[in-house]
Amino acid sequence: MISPVLPAYARAPLSFVEGEGAWLVEESGERYLDLGAGIAVNALGHAHPALVKAVEEQARRLWHTSNLYRVPNQEALAERLVEHSFADTVFFTNSGTESVECAFKMARRYFHVTGQPERHRIIAFHGSFHGRSIAPISAVNSPKLAEGFGPLLPGFDQAPYGDLDAVRALVGPETAAIIIEPIQGEGGIVTPPEGFLKALRELCDANGLLLIFDEIQCGMGRTGKLFAHEWAGVTPDIMCVAKGIGGGFPLGACLATEEAARGMTAGTHGSTYGGNPLACAVGCAVMDIVATPEFLDHVSRTAGRFRQGLEGLVAAHPDVFESVRGEGLMLGVKCRATNTDVVAAGYGAHVLVVPAADNVIRILPPLNLTDVEVDEGLRRLESAAAAVEKGATA
Ligand SMILES: *Cc1c(COP(=O)(O)O)cnc(C)c1O
Repeated sequence: MISPVLPAYARAPLSFVEGEGAWLVEESGERYLDLGAGIAVNALGHAHPALVKAVEEQARRLWHTSNLYRVPNQEALAERLVEHSFADTVFFTNSGTESVECAFKMARRYFHVTGQPERHRIIAFHGSFHGRSIAPISAVNSPKLAEGFGPLLPGFDQAPYGDLDAVRALVGPETAAIIIEPIQGEGGIVTPPEGFLKALRELCDANGLLLIFDEIQCGMGRTGKLFAHEWAGVTPDIMCVAKGIGGGFPLGACLATEEAARGMTAGTHGSTYGGNPLACAVGCAVMDIVATPEFLDHVSRTAGRFRQGLEGLVAAHPDVFESVRGEGLMLGVKCRATNTDVVAAGYGAHVLVVPAADNVIRILPPLNLTDVEVDEGLRRLESAAAAVEKGATA
C-alpha cells in the first residue's frame, strides 16, 4: 500500500526533530553532526538566533499581503542583493526551480522585446541540475531527470560541461542564452576548466546572448565569495539563487541587469508567495550576516582547514576515497568505495554528508561551522571510512 507521503524519495531512516547550529537531534535523542545542511540550505546552521528572531518578529506582525501591494521586506532584500552583486533588479520566488523558470522566461522575453523573437534556444550543460519542473528538466534532458516525463519542452541544447568548442558549435541564429552552474552541485562538485566562465562571457558578448548563472547551490557565501562567479572575475546577465538565501525558509530569487530584465514589465510574470514578508525578513537577516567580509573570510579559513583534513583522510583511506575537489565549503570527495555506502557509514558515525553524481560525497556544512566542529567532522568521517573498509556499512 502506498504511504501517505508520496514515495518519491529514497529516505534514510532518520527523523530529526530539533537542531542547533551544526547539530541535529534525532527522535531517539541521538545527536548528529550536519555536514550537509539540508543540501546547502541551512547556511547559518539550525535555529540561528538572528533568523529565529526575524521569523518570530515578522510572524507576529504580518505574514502575507500579496504582490498586489508593495512589500517593504522584499524591497529591503532586493536592495541588499543589488548592492552586493552585478544585478540591478530582483524577482523573488519560493524555490530554485522557480528562479530558473524566471530566468528562462526573462531570457526569451528579452529577445521578444528587442525584435529578435527567433532567438529562443537556451544552451545548458550535461551533468547540470537546474530543478525538477518541466523547463529545467528539458534544459538538462538527462535520462535520470526526464525519463517518462515527455514530451519535454523544445528549445534547449546541451554541451559537455567545460567544452567550449561544443558550446560554440551549438550557438546559432536561434540561440538566446547559456545557463551554467559556476560549480556543479548535484553533478558531483565539478568546477569548470580555468577561464571557462570568462570564455562563455566573451562568447555571449560576441553573439549578443544572455549568460545565466545558476548559483542556487554554490552562491550565498558557500565558496568564500558571496557568489561563486566572483572567483572567475566575470558577471552574468541573469542569476538564479535559492537554498542558502533563506537559511532554511523557502526563498529563491532571480537577479538580473536592467538590460536583461527589459522585457519583464508589469503583468508578464508573478508568484503568489514569492517574496512574501516572512521569507524576506529571513532573507535580510541571512544577508546581514553572510554578505560581510568577516563572514566570508571565516568561510575561506574554515574551508582551508576542512580541505586539508580531507586530503589527509583520502591519503589514509585510499580504498575508500580518491580525491578532494570543490571550492570553499562546497567540497566533494570522489570515492573509490560506493559513495552511498560512505554516506550510510556516516549515519553510523553520526555525521551527515550528501551523495552526488560521479560517485562523490558532498560536504556542504553550515558556513558558520567552528574549527572544533571541523575536527569533529573529520574524526567522524574517519570512523565512517574505517567502517566502510571493514565492510560494516551501518
Ligand atoms: C537545488 C538546486 C536547484 C533546484 O532548487 P529547488 O529549490 O529544489 O527547486 C536548481 N539548481 C541548482 C544548482 C540546485 O542545486
